[in-house]
Amino acid sequence: MRLSRYFLPVLKENPSEAQIVSHRLMLRAGMIKQASAGIYSWLPLGFKVLRKIENIVHEEQQRAGHIPMLMPTLQSADLWRESGRYDDYGEEMLRIKDRHGRDMLYGPTNEELITDIFRSHVGSYKDLPLTLYHIQWKFRDEIRPRFGVMRGREFFMKDGYNFDLTKEDALHAYNRHLVSYLRTYERMGLQAIPMRADGGPIGGDYTHEFLVLAETGESEVFYDSAVTDLTFGDREIDYDSVDQCAAVLEEFTSKYARTDETHDEVLFAEVPKDRQRTARGIEVGQIFYFGTKYSEAMGAKVQGPDGKTVPVHMGSHGIGVSRLLGAIIEASHDDRGIIWPEGVTPFHAGIVNLKQGDEEADAACDALYASLKALGLEPLYDDRNERAGGKFATMDLLGLPWRITVGPRGLKNGVVELTSRRTGESEEMPPEAAVQKIAQIYAGIA
Ligand code: ATP
Ligand code: MG
Repeated sequence: MRLSRYFLPVLKENPSEAQIVSHRLMLRAGMIKQASAGIYSWLPLGFKVLRKIENIVHEEQQRAGHIPMLMPTLQSADLWRESGRYDDYGEEMLRIKDRHGRDMLYGPTNEELITDIFRSHVGSYKDLPLTLYHIQWKFRDEIRPRFGVMRGREFFMKDGYNFDLTKEDALHAYNRHLVSYLRTYERMGLQAIPMRADGGPIGGDYTHEFLVLAETGESEVFYDSAVTDLTFGDREIDYDSVDQCAAVLEEFTSKYARTDETHDEVLFAEVPKDRQRTARGIEVGQIFYFGTKYSEAMGAKVQGPDGKTVPVHMGSHGIGVSRLLGAIIEASHDDRGIIWPEGVTPFHAGIVNLKQGDEEADAACDALYASLKALGLEPLYDDRNERAGGKFATMDLLGLPWRITVGPRGLKNGVVELTSRRTGESEEMPPEAAVQKIAQIYAGIA
């Protein structure tokens, strides 16, 4: 993309309404624009990152054997009356009447809708196990929408639902989700720690929230610092293997890590003193096994191998796709702007032309642009007639991990400059070498 032809409404001033750095930087970098409280338009740059995050979530869900689909945003109230949640959900649910006076709602989540689909089409244990998921807009009429996309009213969420014959099978689905989430967040350059969370009115031990540590996080968390040494990495995993998935769960959840809702001072005291940590965290996902709560209330049953009809065991598993943009920025920025991890960056590299209009510099930039594109990479070429200082400031704000700087002086010696946004280190090299180096870096990103 050539910046002169893009739509990138960068703000010069710090927007006063933004209280935290991710919100401020998303507004300044022209990624989002508030449409009304907690509701945003995704401008081209923000939309690009949102799509990248969404794609990673899709890939990792499908790698785990989960099946994508799409359910609507507007739902009929009738299903929610069946489960009993129409009254329970309270003010957070946006209720709407259609022209015939029928009660509708903008879905805050989809347990009812998916259970209805399941009961309409599945009747035998032979069709299990089954995990369906979608990535769709949700609406929760949050009392205090704030922090930009972190706590919106309309937000983009992946929600998946497993259907299993037995509790044991459903717990394997739970573990499988935990593994797939670890991979998902790591690909985005994030460490998200699974922490024991509160099962709410349903109770039970089977729920974990994934938290990204950040000062601006809304949750208070308590953990053994040893959990921050754990990484999933690029290990092979067979998602059908009950033992392998259970071993990962064991590895990542046996050390103390809890949100304030489940925090236990006595257990925490058993963690060696020098490893006890109290911090803030951003919840970027949650997994949940809730047994037969919805299947019993809504009659989602299958015939088992013994001919008996039983309600299915279910769980639901969410990832805050739009919140992740904020979480990634909270975890990765400096005072000049965003620093995108390679896995989610909107453009792979920036090209800065120090002397727009100089024949040689223009030609070198055009050639770099073409070579990167030929390798399947997306460069952002700042071809505007601006001073170098302004171009650098914009690139730093946008946070592309790599920048190639092209100027007449370097070109005389046959070199351009390749700069890492993260370390600030620059290296001079021939243009082809810069292209090769960038290609190599991205080839290593799954
Ligand atoms: P919270 O405690 O932050 O209100 P939740 O526990 O109610 O979230 P879930 O029902 O677990 O949310 O939804 C799954 C994921 O969706 C959350 O882990 C979070 O990342 C994201 N999410 C929830 N509410 C919002 C919101 N208002 N804006 C943006 N993302 C959200
Ligand atoms: Mg949650």
